[in-house]
Amino acid sequence: MAKSYEAIVLGGGPGGYVCAIRLGQLGVKTVCIESEEYGGVCLNWGCIPSKALISASHLYEKAHSGAEIGIVVESIRVDSNALQDWKDKIVKKLTGGVRTLLKGNGAEILEGTGKLVAKNAVEVKTKDGKTERVEATKAIVIATGSATIEIPGFAFDGERIIGAREAVSLRHVPKRLVVIGGGVIGLELGMVYQKLGSELTVVELTDTLLPGIDKECVKVVERKLKKLGATIHTETKAEGADKKPDGTVSVRVTTKSGPQVIECDVVLVAVGMKPRSKGIGLEDVGVTVDKRGFVPSDDQAKTNVPGVYSIGDVSGPPMLAHKAMKEGEVCAEVIAGHAAGKDWVTVPAIVFTDPEIASVGLTEEAAKAEGYEVKVGKSPFAALGRAMTIRETDGFVKFVTDKPSGRVLGVHIVGPAASDLVSEAALILEMAASAEDVALTIHPHPTLGEAMMEASAAALGKAIHVANR
Ligand SMILES: Cc1cc2nc3c(=O)[nH]c(=O)nc-3n(C[C@H](O)[C@H](O)[C@H](O)COP(=O)(O)OP(=O)(O)OC[C@H]3O[C@@H](n4cnc5c(N)ncnc54)[C@H](O)[C@@H]3O)c2cc1C
Repeated sequence: MAKSYEAIVLGGGPGGYVCAIRLGQLGVKTVCIESEEYGGVCLNWGCIPSKALISASHLYEKAHSGAEIGIVVESIRVDSNALQDWKDKIVKKLTGGVRTLLKGNGAEILEGTGKLVAKNAVEVKTKDGKTERVEATKAIVIATGSATIEIPGFAFDGERIIGAREAVSLRHVPKRLVVIGGGVIGLELGMVYQKLGSELTVVELTDTLLPGIDKECVKVVERKLKKLGATIHTETKAEGADKKPDGTVSVRVTTKSGPQVIECDVVLVAVGMKPRSKGIGLEDVGVTVDKRGFVPSDDQAKTNVPGVYSIGDVSGPPMLAHKAMKEGEVCAEVIAGHAAGKDWVTVPAIVFTDPEIASVGLTEEAAKAEGYEVKVGKSPFAALGRAMTIRETDGFVKFVTDKPSGRVLGVHIVGPAASDLVSEAALILEMAASAEDVALTIHPHPTLGEAMMEASAAALGKAIHVANR
């Protein structure tokens, strides 16, 4: 006999588990089905594992240059096993926490792979080999997330040719690492291993690293990559990889000036993620899946089929955990009959490179293209006492404003703690604040946040600690 719920959430990643928790809080009888581990890509091999490695690699780099400030480290080395064990502990704690939160809020968990067999029913192949049918009286939420894109010529083998999933679990530091794809994931993880000792080569198809991100910000990160010794090939196509008997790999590429072979020990393919919408019965029950594999939904997370919702990576870009979580909350509230909707002004985006890049809203180029009379205000971290005391003076905060009204259209930060500073920027956009609102707000001294105040003041031509342009 099929078990009946009011709501079935398919997928227990940041979108799915948040949705199921909120449904539980709202008194909706819910089950959350997960085929691998609760927490999804984010907790198991995405956001959190990568940030653990990034913070370790940052510490390692800092320790190397400690003598400059009187902290002399005599002997220092990387213990990849200890690093991985530490990272795994964090993951376990967080994924265990998600299970506890689901149960604590009244949502049931069901471990197995689900497939829609009707508009209101899911068949689940459970982890212990059984087949169960669960039915929903109100809603089915598709939250199956995304998976790594593989490219021809680079078949993953888990050791020498790998994706991000394997890259966050390497128990050694490759001597030479080639990263295919100069986007967010490639540069974050490439830089980790570069700082831990790998010789890094980045191969990028387009003419820039981090396409779509404020160009001036990207330049700062590119400078740091090169300072650490990276070789960067833009406008270069990765053609294939040949594994050699000695354990190394030859990567064939076509650069602007012709074919080239790059020798390395590990190739990380990081060309993006694709929605996980295949084989889960969507088309069979009439749910629209677009050409790219996304399952589009409206501002209330509703797909074209009444009672079927989609959230998170599978529903469309930006493929970010915080966007998935917010959609999960909205979706749960809609299912519970509340007047909720995806009405946010902005979704912050962060690149956890060194330095970090964080942005909200329009870039300078995009604002001009939209016809705004743009006034930019910039404040470099090099002008801040606080940045000097933490030895992180690279980068700047840039406010993009509408000159006539002073309204802030976008904020782009490259530098220390950009990932934390950007939350203020998101609030600025959500509140439709003006540069003056920010400039008039007292930011405590000495903090990195002062760069926000100075950049907004610079947009008004009245910055104190930097020259007004
Ligand atoms: C290396 C890396 C670093 C990242 N870093 C960041 C970051 O710093 N910040 C950020 O915001 N985002 C980051 N992301 C992106 C982030 O991980 C995703 O945006 C986020 O996990 C999406 O959440 P989701 O719930 O939509 O999907 P997912 O996290 O993909 O979860 C979907 C879940 O559904 C399960 N599932 C799929 N099909 C089925 C089925 N048929 N039955 C049952 N269960 C199923 C999967 O096992 C998975 O657990 C990163 C991604 C990667 C790869």
